[in-house]
Amino acid sequence: MTEAKKQRALESIFQFGIRQKVVLVLLAVLIISLAINGWFALQRQTRNALEETNKRGAAIARMVSTSLAYSVLGYDYHAIQILLDELVTTEFIVYARVENTKGTVMSEAGKLPEDAATALEFKENISFEGVQVGQLDVALSVANVLQDIKKERQHQTVREGFIILLVAFGEFIALSFIIVRPVTIISRSFRESINEQGEIVGHIPIQSNDEFGVLADQFNHLRDDLNEANRRLQSKINLADKKLLEANQKLIRQSLELKMKNQELQKLSLTDPLTGLYNRRQFENIIDAELSLALRHSEDLSLLVVDIDHFKAINDTHGHSAGDYVLKEIALILRKVVRRSDVLCRIGGEEFVVLGKHLKQIDAVVVAEKLRAAIERHRFTIENEALQVTASFGVASVPSPFEIRTTAEFFNCADAALYYSKTHGRNCVTHFSQIADKVGSEENSKAGTV
Ligand code: GH3
Ligand code: MG
Ligand code: MG
Repeated sequence: MTEAKKQRALESIFQFGIRQKVVLVLLAVLIISLAINGWFALQRQTRNALEETNKRGAAIARMVSTSLAYSVLGYDYHAIQILLDELVTTEFIVYARVENTKGTVMSEAGKLPEDAATALEFKENISFEGVQVGQLDVALSVANVLQDIKKERQHQTVREGFIILLVAFGEFIALSFIIVRPVTIISRSFRESINEQGEIVGHIPIQSNDEFGVLADQFNHLRDDLNEANRRLQSKINLADKKLLEANQKLIRQSLELKMKNQELQKLSLTDPLTGLYNRRQFENIIDAELSLALRHSEDLSLLVVDIDHFKAINDTHGHSAGDYVLKEIALILRKVVRRSDVLCRIGGEEFVVLGKHLKQIDAVVVAEKLRAAIERHRFTIENEALQVTASFGVASVPSPFEIRTTAEFFNCADAALYYSKTHGRNCVTHFSQIADKVGSEENSKAGTV
């Protein structure tokens, strides 16, 4: 037997469980019933013994009184004394006395016991031919009878104790096998009955015809039903899980699509649909921030305004779609030539701008010239016909000795330079610093309204 089993066995004995309670109740009932039964039996025994003593005492007194009649009548004290002495030698008679009719004691033998309860006294008339001549007193000891009853009571107590022990042991064994063992089996089955999948695997191995057998049978059936219900529920949960997962995935897909559409929408709201470059609104957002940063940190920033020369004529001659084609080609050329960090934008019609970060005046002019040359060089083909396209450039830069504090002023300066290019032959680059002194303050302020 393992230590754990020993421990369990000890616990089951000393714990106040069903076995102990039932044994206790049955013992109490047994003790009470045995006590009542014993008490009645003893009472009856005592009564019988005393009745028997009474009868014997009366018979002895009667017999002796008959024998004494002659002696009393003849005042034969000696014979009376011999008879009384003889009488008290017997085991039961402890005292005898003869009185005449006047009440005078003629003879007596023995001694009355101090405890009056241990003696029975009998008075019998001594008669001769129907006439009373005296009276005989005989006292019988009941001490022996009482002693016997006491002994009997002790024997009975021992017998009852033995019976109680025997019954208790029997009850203990019977209860262990009839009630406690099945209950232990059932409780152990319950304790070890559920596996990791939540299935009830416990089986109560009881096949008796009593209530425990029925309970075990019902549990085993209930287990099968519950397992079946559990399986059905589990498959429903799995199905619901699957559907939930699908719905979740669909939701994630839709959310991604929505996100992409949002990004697309945002891009559309910020870009020009024809060329894919930033639109004017986005450019204004960017240039505001970049200009204030450049001014605060005295960093170089240049703005290039590009306007296609005689674009209207292209539209008019070759159609609007040809004009669109040219716009797209110009956008591609701009993308190709400028740095990735530069900001490109179509601010309207056939006008583009380039915001060159960390691009100082001299380099801005070089970039503008590069762009101008690239456009001039580019082979535009419309309906298999080569088309010559050129563009004019106006450039402004900060830091600048001129008053450029706002985006509007920055634009005005670049526009003024562009205007100069347009009015001085087109297909050329003008930096505002070249014309600032020429345009003068009046023209400069006029340019501010463009
Ligand atoms: P200049 O050399 O002085 O700049 O002359 P220009 O003809 O280029 O300038 P103008 O401002 O007279 O004409 C611009 C034309 O650009 C007018 C307009 O029809 C055309 N235009 C504006 N937006 C678009 C567009 O999105 N697509 C096409 N195809 N044409 C456009
Ligand atoms: Mg224009
Ligand atoms: Mg133009």
